[in-house]
Amino acid sequence: PDVNAFLRHHIRTVPDWPAPGVQFRDITPLLQNPQVFHVLVDAFVHRYMGRDMRPDVVAGLDARGFIIGAVIAYQLKVGFVPIRKKGKLPFTTVEETYELEYGSATVELHADAVKPGDRVLVVDDLIATGGTMMAGKKLLEKLGATVMEGAAIVDLPELGGSQRLRDAGLPLFTLVDFS
Ligand code: IMP
Repeated sequence: PDVNAFLRHHIRTVPDWPAPGVQFRDITPLLQNPQVFHVLVDAFVHRYMGRDMRPDVVAGLDARGFIIGAVIAYQLKVGFVPIRKKGKLPFTTVEETYELEYGSATVELHADAVKPGDRVLVVDDLIATGGTMMAGKKLLEKLGATVMEGAAIVDLPELGGSQRLRDAGLPLFTLVDFS
């Protein structure tokens, strides 16, 4: 059974959302169907269960990275920490600002979310320019942690983000490519 083709078939493409010309890859149908949700989560859990691949912590990127990251962490029996858009986390944070096509975005992480030396898996739904995943990596490194890998359901390789992340020394694991 080709898991990647199976999952691809359940991703919905919404034209002209959130802006004209954008083809939005909507992963919510993967979550909504219980059988597909299992296949999706198990594809990640299978990879990270092995002794050498098991992270100390899973970090999820706001907001769809929370959904998938939390269930992966639960299955791996490791903790989960959220990387949030600025202004949402109540305790002391570290923050990282990165450039978007128009303007910039800032993400935050609680200062005690990880310990120096922790091996962290960062999870999101999709990699486009790679800016969000890169900001997550920088935040975790500010706290002395190591990002062992980035994981996402979808990669858009033509935007170059996944290549940039790999060039920056971040291994990536993605399940479905869209061009
Ligand atoms: P990047 O920072 O340019 O790599 O964009 C990735 C971030 O934007 C992720 O947090 C995604 O959730 C979101 N994103 C961008 N494009 C899409 C899309 O087509 N579908 C779902 N999420 C997207």
